[in-house]
Amino acid sequence: MQNAPLNRQQLITELLTQGVQVINPQQQHASRHGGAGPSDHQAMNIDGVTVMVPVYTHSAHRSPWQVKHEESGTTRLYNQSIPVREIGVTRKPRFYERQTAEGIPYSQIATLHGTDVLATTVLQTCIRYENRAKACQFCAIGQSLAAGSTIARKTPQQLAEVAKAAVELDGVKHMVMTTGTPSGSDRGARILVESAEAIKAAVNLPLQGQCEPPGDPRWFQRLKDAGIDTLGMHLEAVTPEVRARIMPGKAQVSVEQYLIAFADAVAVFGRGQVSTYILAGLGDTPQAILTLSEKLIALGVYPFVVPFVPISGTPLEHHAAPDSAFMTSILQPLGQMLNQANLRSRDIKAGCGRCGACSSLSSFEQAMA
Ligand code: SF4
Repeated sequence: MQNAPLNRQQLITELLTQGVQVINPQQQHASRHGGAGPSDHQAMNIDGVTVMVPVYTHSAHRSPWQVKHEESGTTRLYNQSIPVREIGVTRKPRFYERQTAEGIPYSQIATLHGTDVLATTVLQTCIRYENRAKACQFCAIGQSLAAGSTIARKTPQQLAEVAKAAVELDGVKHMVMTTGTPSGSDRGARILVESAEAIKAAVNLPLQGQCEPPGDPRWFQRLKDAGIDTLGMHLEAVTPEVRARIMPGKAQVSVEQYLIAFADAVAVFGRGQVSTYILAGLGDTPQAILTLSEKLIALGVYPFVVPFVPISGTPLEHHAAPDSAFMTSILQPLGQMLNQANLRSRDIKAGCGRCGACSSLSSFEQAMA
């Protein structure tokens, strides 16, 4: 039981780290199992903020937080059976009802994240994932493919068709395209270029591309010219030992190489339009994350720090999620640093930093503003 009411950022941090048990799941709600990005989650609206809350993870099954859909039509959050507040749950988008001319459901090509973000993994295979011992231990990219809930390669035409429908039917506001890493030295930039060109020809939708740092920095300009508005290159962890343990393949590209790539990318995309994703709770200390974040902010890179969520079926499925005190010890000073640098999520044109639903970081930014 809670001793004192939690403020908004405390409550969101609690839900993101502990997850929620959904007592009576509803067919009409959007949730997802497996895949890259936020898996095993349901998008919920807490006091006007969209949050991707873990619902299918091991920790969610043990969480003191529960959600019940009541007969009156309201959805209520409980803590150990004590009602806390009414919340909203994102409904399945209308574009999920459609399929391509070849019969591929649109939901296998792209999915709704939060309430207004279209997200896709353009290439659902990854050189890092071919050998599970070398793969990122937290990643579930192969699971949704094995389960048949997605397809291995989304063509530019398929992405353009789904993006147009998602804008027209559901009003999506921006799109995230991530990719498994192919074997070429472009590290995924080439397929992001082809995809962005097709999407932008079909619909005016701000785009974020996410890939590992391409071997040749000229790819940054090609990505921008193709219509990518913001770029994400995700460090995942910041300390060399933690990176080598958690993601032995991806750690071959060092933090120093990322920093060089970030500087090159900011020169093309602009300050605040390049970001990175850092998973807190895998072994990095708060100080290590904050020290690197300071460097990133100085470069003009938005460090999107999210609590690690152990996804079912991955080698880390039983790894503990960080607690809310640990996350607050990072996000509170980080929110302050971002405010002081005038580098804010709301100014990002597209992507995870702008969406913010996997972290309470933007709530800490707002609380400090
Ligand atoms: S923050 Fe990124 S990964 Fe998380 S829900 Fe938003 S778009 Fe998806």
